[in-house]
Amino acid sequence: MNPLIGITCSIDEQADRLQLNAAYLEAVEAAGGVPVLLAGGREVALEVISRLDGILFTGGVDLDPAYFGEDPLPGLGEVSPRRDLFEVELCRTAHRLGVPSLGICRGCQLMAIALGGDVYQDIPSQLPNALQHAQRGPRFHKSHGVTVTPGSRLARIAGTDGLRVNSFHHQSVRRLPQGASVCAVAPDGVVEAFEDKSHPFWLGVQWHPEGLWHEDEASRALFRSLVDAAREVASRGR
Ligand code: MN
Repeated sequence: MNPLIGITCSIDEQADRLQLNAAYLEAVEAAGGVPVLLAGGREVALEVISRLDGILFTGGVDLDPAYFGEDPLPGLGEVSPRRDLFEVELCRTAHRLGVPSLGICRGCQLMAIALGGDVYQDIPSQLPNALQHAQRGPRFHKSHGVTVTPGSRLARIAGTDGLRVNSFHHQSVRRLPQGASVCAVAPDGVVEAFEDKSHPFWLGVQWHPEGLWHEDEASRALFRSLVDAAREVASRGR
């Protein structure tokens, strides 16, 4: 049986609608996972996780900085309180129970914040010398390079110590949670990926592999590695 991979949805708070870019679903499906779309309240987060083999935390709007003890700076973007409640609970539980998890963009930031780390609320105003991380090119365009930490899980997955990636973020991980380590940085020092080696599979990337996977083997390998880890953990039981 192929592993069930939960995929978190965005909430359009104004229209009261769930949203998901189909690219996430297609990338998980192409990697051999069975995608299951996730949304709900905190109780649902606790309940659904025992039925899932892996989780993909997707991109979206900013997390409420109250989760890391800050008030909003002028550069903070839109927030989604219901999504935050659900995902913070899901993320903490996934970490505690050893559920293989991949975070993309907001998902990467969530994986840091939910476990005690934090982010720059707005790169352009807080890191004025940073590169342009909110690229204006299309999703499939790789706008900047990243250096991958040798010996990291990401280095094994990508099979290289350097990647080019797309970039659609104005926040980035500042303080890592305890036990986590950086596995990719941009030339300006911005954290582009981190992992937790004490967990069966816990990896966050700041770029969007779901926008690249058609053309890019390293992006396909990221989704495959999540699905493979989910299959392996499911087969030996959590
Ligand atoms: Mn970037």
